[in-house]
Amino acid sequence: MTGVRLRFAPSPTGYLHIGGLRTALYNYLYAKGHDGKFILRIEDTDRTRFVEGALENLIRSLQWAGITYDEGVFLNADGSLEQRGEFGPYIQSERMAEGIYDRYIEDLLERGDAYYCFCSKERLDHLREQQKSDGLIPRYDGLCRAVTLEEARERVAAGEEHVIRLKLPVNRDIVVMDEVKGKIVINTNDMDDQVLIKSDGFPTYHFAVVVDDHLMGITHIVRGDEWLPSTPKHVYLYEVFGWQAPVFVHLPTVLNRDRKKLSKRNDDVAVEDFIAQGYLPEGLVNYLALVGWSPDSTEEILTMEELVEQFGFERVSKTGGIFDRDKLNWVNAHHIKKYSDEELGELLKPYLLEEKLITGDYPAAKLTLLGNTFKDSLDRLMDIQAQARFLFIDQVDITEADAVEYAAKEHVPALRTAFIEALNEVEVVDEAFAKSIMKRIQKQTGVKGKDLFMPMRALLTGKVHGPELVNVIQLLGKDILLKRLTD
Ligand code: GLU
Repeated sequence: MTGVRLRFAPSPTGYLHIGGLRTALYNYLYAKGHDGKFILRIEDTDRTRFVEGALENLIRSLQWAGITYDEGVFLNADGSLEQRGEFGPYIQSERMAEGIYDRYIEDLLERGDAYYCFCSKERLDHLREQQKSDGLIPRYDGLCRAVTLEEARERVAAGEEHVIRLKLPVNRDIVVMDEVKGKIVINTNDMDDQVLIKSDGFPTYHFAVVVDDHLMGITHIVRGDEWLPSTPKHVYLYEVFGWQAPVFVHLPTVLNRDRKKLSKRNDDVAVEDFIAQGYLPEGLVNYLALVGWSPDSTEEILTMEELVEQFGFERVSKTGGIFDRDKLNWVNAHHIKKYSDEELGELLKPYLLEEKLITGDYPAAKLTLLGNTFKDSLDRLMDIQAQARFLFIDQVDITEADAVEYAAKEHVPALRTAFIEALNEVEVVDEAFAKSIMKRIQKQTGVKGKDLFMPMRALLTGKVHGPELVNVIQLLGKDILLKRLTD
């Protein structure tokens, strides 16, 4: 096997967390940048956390973000799931059904590197309480290490409830080399005899992850640093199996502005939330790449191709990356500006429809004009709902102090009359009309500059500042213009 192989291995627990998307992205960027393969493996051995539809949801979020993979579980257009690749199945519950983990646990049992444990939950709870009150770190005391394999097999055959644990050696330093965090050493005396097979027969994450990463030829494990404390157990497992351990890369946690872990209660954490708010995939991806990694140059607005080119683990930071909404908005706004007026109009359409500001038959030319009008003021596509609302309602309230003042000026009735007169001469308000109307009013009334434009803006938009007036006039159209000028 040649080339690097990286994997994203989420558990389908409901939705894709924004930190998970970043993990997937870093794996993807590294694999793509090194002519490698990227794999999506589903870790569903914790049956208590299984959520219906979560897998599809997760894949859809990756698809939306443009994070593609070469092997793993795919979602077809008709909603069906399909696995592709030589190393399948890529869903751990299916791997379990094929007996893959049984084979490897059997190997460990035979070699004395794992043992059956029959301790009841009550005993373990009691032990934990005791250790806690003695000021010790709770860990299994190894009671069942004394049960011979022969006796254990008889008890298992008789139906006794059990788990299988890893038998750690006494007083051995385990060394983890991490590309980001450096060298970490922990003594086995401070580690627990990890459960490898649970009482329901499913492998634990720790066991399945090692077996699968090995069998799938994974060369680099890139994941959140919440998994770092588990890594010594994994490293030890690689050692007892006699397998070459992959390169470990633990990413700094994504934090909120209070430097706390992003939580569902206080923050938007699901990728779907960001999709719904109208972040562009390229905007969110670009920003997420910067949460915990920095490019070599000062240019921070980067496309996926540029990220692939520039990404490496050397510039991944050791400590938590702050998820800063303002910066995300800034990055996203840059990507919005890259679209043509026409493309942006199409992107905005669903948000306008959702708010019932337009109907399905809204003219394409006007959508393009909307794209042109709001391109520079949108952070997110959803912002169009608030920013463009004034164009689609019959009346606007003039409440801003400046606007109230300008709208009440003595010469305003004359401006209104001239505008209405011009409107009555045309069938539709087109670009030519919008471009010439102010000149015409100026000629007719002798009012010019601020005294002309500010009151006009105030009457038509309710504010004295805002988008290009020529565009606003066209977008409002004859009927609404008349309403705003007469009422
Ligand atoms: N299944 C783990 C998760 O849900 C994967 C951790 C790893 O990448 O090893 O995040």
